[in-house]
Amino acid sequence: MRHAVRCCIWCWVITATLCVAAGAATLGDTFVVRVYYTSGEDIQRLVTRYDVHEFNDHDERCLLLTASTGTLARLRAEGWQVMIDTNRSLEFIPPRDVFRRPPPASVRPHEFYGNYKTAQEIVAHLHALTAAYAHIATLVKYGEAFCKSTGGAVTPGGQTQEVHDLLALRITATNTPGSKPVFFLMAAIHAREITTPELALRFAHWLLEGYNTDADATWLVNEQETWIVPLVNPEGHWIVSLGTQPPYNGNPFTQRKNAHQDRCTAWPPGDWAQYGIDLNRNHSFLWGTTGISTAPCDLVYCGLAPASEPEVAQLQQLITNLFPDQRGPLITDPAPSNTTGILISLHSYGRYVLWPWGHTSAPAPNQAGLRAIGLKLARYNRYRAGQSSTMLYSTSGDSTDWAYGELGIPAFTFEVGTSFMPAYSAIDSDQWPTNKGALVYAAKIARAPYVLVNGPDALHVELSPTPSNIVVVQAVIDERGSGSNLVAGAEWALEPFHHAAVETYSMHAADGAFDSVYEPVVGYLDSAALEGPYTMIYVRGRDALGNWGPMSAVFAGEIPEPAVGLACLLGLLTFCQRRFDRAHDLFTLRPGQRAEARN
Ligand SMILES: [Zn+2]
Repeated sequence: MRHAVRCCIWCWVITATLCVAAGAATLGDTFVVRVYYTSGEDIQRLVTRYDVHEFNDHDERCLLLTASTGTLARLRAEGWQVMIDTNRSLEFIPPRDVFRRPPPASVRPHEFYGNYKTAQEIVAHLHALTAAYAHIATLVKYGEAFCKSTGGAVTPGGQTQEVHDLLALRITATNTPGSKPVFFLMAAIHAREITTPELALRFAHWLLEGYNTDADATWLVNEQETWIVPLVNPEGHWIVSLGTQPPYNGNPFTQRKNAHQDRCTAWPPGDWAQYGIDLNRNHSFLWGTTGISTAPCDLVYCGLAPASEPEVAQLQQLITNLFPDQRGPLITDPAPSNTTGILISLHSYGRYVLWPWGHTSAPAPNQAGLRAIGLKLARYNRYRAGQSSTMLYSTSGDSTDWAYGELGIPAFTFEVGTSFMPAYSAIDSDQWPTNKGALVYAAKIARAPYVLVNGPDALHVELSPTPSNIVVVQAVIDERGSGSNLVAGAEWALEPFHHAAVETYSMHAADGAFDSVYEPVVGYLDSAALEGPYTMIYVRGRDALGNWGPMSAVFAGEIPEPAVGLACLLGLLTFCQRRFDRAHDLFTLRPGQRAEARN
């Protein structure tokens, strides 16, 4: 792929030249351009002054920028080597008639750009979810976005700004007492990254619909809290959708920032100038130090003060209430290995998993743990992984530097997909199946992520009956991606392993010996111990260094019919080999094909 990209560079030169020569009629007047750099200073100059995408090609040494014809001329006048990326330009801003088709009869009143939800519709969706799953879901108003909190606004184009509360979805079974580990998932702090709220909602649906039907979703809801903020920047999201509505009737606006008109009245939102504060440069940790602009119309304008924007201040308050501060006051203090909680912020695009620090290329004090978790997450979504400052470019005041810097929790940015605004179908054909496993894994290690990441995964937990009252528990323990030490053991239990006085039962290597990084395992339980189909059997594995990995579970009700089970038992060795082969395929299938894998 990358080789092909390199080989095609001259095609682009020619194509770009032809496009420009043809008056750019094919592409319209906004392009995605590749701008070549020679130093870190070049990157910082570009990032702070232009609309740089969340993407950095280290092989080609170029960034991708949005550029109008005016910006293109400005870049060239400043001496940058610039090339129009024709394919990305077409993907980024498709011709208007791509989405101009008759709406289906069932069209929702608030959708835009071919099924994307408006801010209003996301709010309605959250209310509907909490009504349907009231026993495990709560909608929490944690503040008001800027325009709502200041009494409203009118855009420079004359439209009344739609104002919004700040809403979080809390998912947990309230009948399980005690303080619980938290997985915090946030999306769309950058308004134009419009696939990310959809991904956050897909994860909410997986948990809610999986409660009592999917054993892993069920224990995550029982034992933990999941907090999902699908729309960190709701008023910016409204500006994006406004571009598709009268009087504009075009493509979504590429608003990145919030709706705070702070000494900038640029309109409509553009690549060179748009009003608002970049919320992902406004967090209070080392605010305003690098990778920002102090010019109000710039795309990375950090605001007048740390956490000046309610979208950031209230978010920080919410998160601070959920996670204890587990890191010392010095920049060099590591968080302890038993730190609890994890945070993921969904952005687009570029297909990256990024970890702190963003403000410096120096490693974070918990670099080993952050790197181990980041690489593991990237093993699931097959994205490139690295420290954000070196993988992309330096930033300060972003969500993950703040969450890790202030609280010590591992915090990651996912840059999903290959463009800001792909066809809506890309969410379910690519982005959700690609990222589901990574999000589920993050949730599974939330109790103690720096510890659990070192242990192997328990995959494909299944049961099969025997002619007697014994039930066979099977799983695959996979240490690849967790240090690649030998798998040294596995166990099952009828309660989660962190419960007090839990009784655990050893499992055996199906091939007779724990001598691999990848072991099918079997255990046996007396069916008399099962109190009904909703009894859950939990399994986890251990490596040779003594690291236990996160658990996975199965419902007793998932035992197949006896005839099938008997056949399985009689052919146990063959069966185990098949399980081994299937599990082995987990990381070799295309991302879209492993959506159904239990992991
Ligand atoms: Zn972003």
